[in-house]
Amino acid sequence: MSERLDGKVAVVTGAGSGIGKAIAEHLARAGATVAVTDLDLKSADEVARRIVAAGGQASGLAMDVTDEAAVDRGIDEVVAKHGSVDVLVSNAGIQIVNPIVAFSFADWKKLLAVHLDGAFLTTRAALRHMYADNRGGVVIYIGSVHSHLASPLKSGYVTAKHGLLGLARVLAKEGAAHGVRSHVVCPGFVRTPLVDKQIPEQARELGISEEEVVSKVMLGDTVDGEFATVDEIARTALFLAAFPGAAFTGQSFMVSHGWYMH
Ligand code: NAD
Repeated sequence: MSERLDGKVAVVTGAGSGIGKAIAEHLARAGATVAVTDLDLKSADEVARRIVAAGGQASGLAMDVTDEAAVDRGIDEVVAKHGSVDVLVSNAGIQIVNPIVAFSFADWKKLLAVHLDGAFLTTRAALRHMYADNRGGVVIYIGSVHSHLASPLKSGYVTAKHGLLGLARVLAKEGAAHGVRSHVVCPGFVRTPLVDKQIPEQARELGISEEEVVSKVMLGDTVDGEFATVDEIARTALFLAAFPGAAFTGQSFMVSHGWYMH
C-alpha cells in the first residue's frame, strides 16, 4: 500500500458497521491509530479488537455524534489516550424514507441531527486540537450522490447530504491557515445495513418489487449495474487522508460507478 498514515491518529464516527468500519480498517492498515467510535459501543469495540488482532492500533469508543457533551468528551479522550487527532472521518449516518407530505417532524430533525449536527460537533471538537497543536489535519465527510442530486422519499437525507458540501467548503477556507483541509466522499449505493433496510421500504412506497428497487432505483443509472463497495469508499478516504497538501480541499469525490459525474 503506497499511502501511509504512520504516527497519525484518526477518529472515525459510525465505525461499528458498513462504510465506517471499512474506513477504520483501511486507515489502520496504513499505519494510523484509529479511534473506532459509534453509538453502539459493542460494535465499535469489536471493530477495534479485530484491528488490533490484525496487528494495527485502535480503540473503541461510544460516541453519539448528536450529543455535544459526548462529542467534546470523546474527542478529548482520544487526544488524551493517543496524543492527537490528525484525521476525522465524519461518517455516522441513518436513513429514513417517506414522502415529504408524510414525513414526521421528529424524523426530519433526527436525520439532520445525525448528519449535520454530528458533522459540525465532531469537526468543531477536532479542530480545537488540530488548531491548538498546530499539526493541521484532514476532515473527511461521508456525503452521498445525494449531496448532488435528489431522489423521491429522501427529503431529510438529501437536504442533510447537500448541507455537508457547505460545511466542507467553509472548513476548506477557514482551515487553510491552520493546515486543515476538508473533503466530501460521495458514494453511490453501497450494500450495507443502511441500504438493506431501505429496499423493502422503497418497494412498498414506490409500489414496485424489491428487485426493481435494486436494478432500477439504486443501480439503474450506473454504467455497470454494480453497487459501489465499502472497499472502494475506504480506499478513496485513505487516498484523501494521506494526500499531502491542499490540492483537493473543499471538493467532493463521487464513488458511484458513473451514476453521477461532475
Ligand atoms: P450503516 O448503517 O452500516 O452504519 C452506520 C453506523 O452509524 C452504524 O454503526 C450506526 O450505529 C452509526 N450511527 C448511527 N447514528 C449514530 C449516532 N447518532 N452517533 C454515532 N453513530 C451513529 O450505514 P453505512 O451505509 O455504512 O453508512 C455510513 C455513511 O455512509 C452514512 O453517512 C451514509 O449516509 C453514507 N452513505 C451510505 C451509502 C450506502 O449506500 N450505504 C451511500 C451514500 C452514503
